[in-house]
Amino acid sequence: MARFTPARIARAFALIVLAAGVVWPARPAAAAHNSDHRLVEPAPPPRPIDYAQLTREATALLQNYIRIDTTNPPGDELGAARMLKEKFLSDGVPATVWEPAPGRGVIAARLHGIGRHAKSIVLLSHMDVVPANPKEWEVPPFSGEIKNGEIWGRGSLDDKGPGVIELMAMLAIKRAGILLDRDVIFIATGDEEEGGKMGAGWTVAHESDLFADAGYLLNEGGAIEKRPNGKEYFAVSIAEKTPLWIRVTAAGPADHAAMPPDETAVTRLARALDRLDNWRAPIRLIDPVRDYFREIAALDGGPPQYRSLARALRDPAFARKFTADPHHDALVRDTFTPTVLRAGDKTNVIPSLAEAEIDGRLLPGENPITAMADVSKAMGDANLKTEVLLNFPSVSSPRDSRMMTAIQELAAREHAAVVPTMIAGFTDSHYFREKNIDCYGFIPIELTPGEMKGVHGVNERMSVKKLGAGIRRMVELLELAGGRARATRERRR
Ligand SMILES: [Zn+2]
Repeated sequence: MARFTPARIARAFALIVLAAGVVWPARPAAAAHNSDHRLVEPAPPPRPIDYAQLTREATALLQNYIRIDTTNPPGDELGAARMLKEKFLSDGVPATVWEPAPGRGVIAARLHGIGRHAKSIVLLSHMDVVPANPKEWEVPPFSGEIKNGEIWGRGSLDDKGPGVIELMAMLAIKRAGILLDRDVIFIATGDEEEGGKMGAGWTVAHESDLFADAGYLLNEGGAIEKRPNGKEYFAVSIAEKTPLWIRVTAAGPADHAAMPPDETAVTRLARALDRLDNWRAPIRLIDPVRDYFREIAALDGGPPQYRSLARALRDPAFARKFTADPHHDALVRDTFTPTVLRAGDKTNVIPSLAEAEIDGRLLPGENPITAMADVSKAMGDANLKTEVLLNFPSVSSPRDSRMMTAIQELAAREHAAVVPTMIAGFTDSHYFREKNIDCYGFIPIELTPGEMKGVHGVNERMSVKKLGAGIRRMVELLELAGGRARATRERRR
């Protein structure tokens, strides 16, 4: 056994120093002010990103993802969650899968930044899809077949394609050795198409530590669109309408239908729904909607009324014309639509109960209690029972934030405008907005009205080219939002 005499220790130290002289490059004097720095290798500059290779890989991943049937109900997202987890793990990105209920799945992965405690960015998507009837499709909806340069299948746009873009952008950043100022967290949930209780709702309720440091979230809800005149804009949803789903029940005596009384549960419900149908909630123009139309008018060069919509809507003739478009109408007022009817099941028996479900949609800032009172008043029958089936607070995200600035910088590179929007539906973003995270509905892919018809429709498909461009833009967006923009631009020159 060697004895470590002071002389030996001194010799060993000299050898280490010598070795250090060979291995460590010389530093400019200014950098050596802190002796610790001489022991640290700087991170190597990022390597170039091979987008052609990434696109091939993303295409194969999306095909496999589509082939895992996650039609909700029942959802069965667990297999898809495991596949995405494996993809992250194979690149050394830690990822975890949860099973909120048998067969259901949630997956999350975290790409670490340099740990400056800047708020992290969540990339959210959902793994479940709406049903698809193969008879109506040109290709089997769960085939993931490639036809005319497009990946066909249910979920290719909503929302498996966007999930793949988010995942591949994270892997691209990891592989290139790009160090962001903040962490990026990937979360894919299930059950979005049925309200998200077993997906995003479960995640927020049970695993909130996962995103405790998050400040921003990107989700579905907006994309790159074109006006009819060809002007491109990045539509970013900053607000959503909130559901107020109501059950209305009318009661009356059960009787033989051969000797009907004046009024029955069925006739009372029918009259109430008719009165509701003849009523409209008042027009209310909220700021994001006012801004949306103003900015659309700037892109289109008109109509002039859109530049001061509040004033224009006071003119009854213009208001009538404007709200004749159901999409416009939904943006400026609360809507209440009867969708479900239930009463008797025998032709000759008067049922004692008749019920309807009404899909109400409220503008941000609307008070649900007042709205319920308005609906009851419109139905004009004090003996009806009303219950709320679904409602949650409506929260909007700020128009100005680090993430919005990053999206604006990305759009500027393509000479496109950014138009903040409110969507008439709702997404899983509301679960995270309630946790004070700034959520933006934006996926950086170009979508035509024809392609959008595939969402919840038939022949849903994503072009391979757009998938690749989406990954490139998502990488750039994360660099812009995550603090590495300058380095990237220098590399590109
Ligand atoms: Zn969706």
